[in-house]
Amino acid sequence: MRRRDFVKAGLGLSVSLPVRSWSAVLGSPGSIPSRTLEGSDVSLSAASVMDLAAGLRGDVLLSGGPGYDSARRIWNGMFDKRPALITRCTGASDVRRALMFAREHRLLTAVRAGGHSVSGKSTCDGGIMIDLQPMRGVRVDPATRRAYVEAGSLLGQLDHESQAHGLATTAGTFSITGAAGLTLGGGFGRLGRRFGLACDNVASFDVVTTDGRFLKASDEENADLFWGLRGGGGNFGVVTSIEYRLHPVNPMVLGGHVIWPLEQGRGAARLCRDMAIDAPDAANLSPFLYWAGTTAHFGVGVCWSGDHAEGERWLEPLRAFGRPVTDAVRPMRYVDIQSADDADYPDGIHSYAKNGFVGELTNDNIDLIFDVFLRTPGLYTMFLDHCGGAYARVAQDATAFPRRDMQFILAMWSGWKSSDGLDEKVSKMRAAWRELEPITGGFYVNYAGTDNVASRDRENYGTNFERLVALKAKYDPMNLLRLNANVPPKL
Ligand code: FAD
Repeated sequence: MRRRDFVKAGLGLSVSLPVRSWSAVLGSPGSIPSRTLEGSDVSLSAASVMDLAAGLRGDVLLSGGPGYDSARRIWNGMFDKRPALITRCTGASDVRRALMFAREHRLLTAVRAGGHSVSGKSTCDGGIMIDLQPMRGVRVDPATRRAYVEAGSLLGQLDHESQAHGLATTAGTFSITGAAGLTLGGGFGRLGRRFGLACDNVASFDVVTTDGRFLKASDEENADLFWGLRGGGGNFGVVTSIEYRLHPVNPMVLGGHVIWPLEQGRGAARLCRDMAIDAPDAANLSPFLYWAGTTAHFGVGVCWSGDHAEGERWLEPLRAFGRPVTDAVRPMRYVDIQSADDADYPDGIHSYAKNGFVGELTNDNIDLIFDVFLRTPGLYTMFLDHCGGAYARVAQDATAFPRRDMQFILAMWSGWKSSDGLDEKVSKMRAAWRELEPITGGFYVNYAGTDNVASRDRENYGTNFERLVALKAKYDPMNLLRLNANVPPKL
């Protein structure tokens, strides 16, 4: 490939640039400063990057070039990183080529799908970002009730296409999150108590392994890999497409929220707890505390995806409790409730989060959660994800996802528009979590922030950990894919 053509491809320009632009863009003529897996600095030759670009249908983006800055950004503004190069992959073939390049040069490698990694794992400084954003096709086959979802797709696309046929599967609670990252780590959502985790609803994955093979992972083919991809994150290869099982779901649900004044909050929280534990699978309750300015509120997010008359009856005691300041539960489109909170978690927000599974939410636990929350202004929200139901009907070792036996996930999220004083703000959050952590056991990797260290990941995967290590040794022995809840290839 001629150099002028590479510059065109690499910068995503519609016209070729003369050769001299190459040195202007790169700063250092003829090479690109990069970082290896081990963290040392290396220079990539222009020739090698030109060769990479020649083999891709998508663009290669370099620092200083058009498109680079928007492509490098991920949802969490805390991670303002600058990969040496970004490959905008248009399909599995581009993914393979980018992976082989990363492997050959031992480059620090980030894989980005929806870019909503809370811990910033889908970007890196100095390495390569394998960017799946251009891969956004979703196709539904209503006859077989299957959705075929390219790995850069967002959950809103999956819901939108599925609901056109009166179908759906567990797909988070926001339309803007990536399907791939969410599913590989587990995947909770408003339909999860009926159908299980998003990963429980996968029929097959298409994967490119770090040695360049195109594999299908399903119950029939590469069943070991299929087991590991359901909860083991992006450790074993780059997933390029996901086949989901869909289920009939009424496009209208009973949804919304009920909010009480703070002084009625603890009583309402106990009632939510009692109802959640014995709830029919169609019910999803998500109790939350949040600060609106200097005023704290308690509320519960509701989604009932079954028969509406039955849902109205079941919700009656909750809505009759105390004197709610807001009762916004009403028939609404499922796709609308799935995007209702998107605007509260905008792109670029500086976000810090902690979470843990709660096996038994006692009255004392509820009091502790309220006390810690009220002592921590600046903390945006604490909420409980409703577990049980179909999540718990899957055996602990049936997939790599480690925890099935919990009542709730307790999560704490903060988001700041500005990066001013972040260290101090984060240390307040850490202090708050230190008080809460004792009531939790293990954590959900997809909500985990940066504080998690390898030993905690090991503990978290529990009895599934050794099997995950064996899989890692088989499919990624050099640990090329390490920017995730990383499983080492050796114990
Ligand atoms: P990315 O940042 O693109 O990737 C996340 C991780 O997965 C990275 O380590 C990345 O390398 C790896 N990865 C991504 N795609 C691939 C692939 N194709 N092959 C190999 N590895 C890959 N979780 C829930 O369960 N339920 C929710 O309702 C929910 N709501 C959320 C709302 C918001 C606003 C946010 C920020 C997060 C939410 N999460 C939720 C957590 C979510 O599951 C994770 O953030 C998830 O990682 C997002 O996936 P992504 O594709 O957007 O992430």
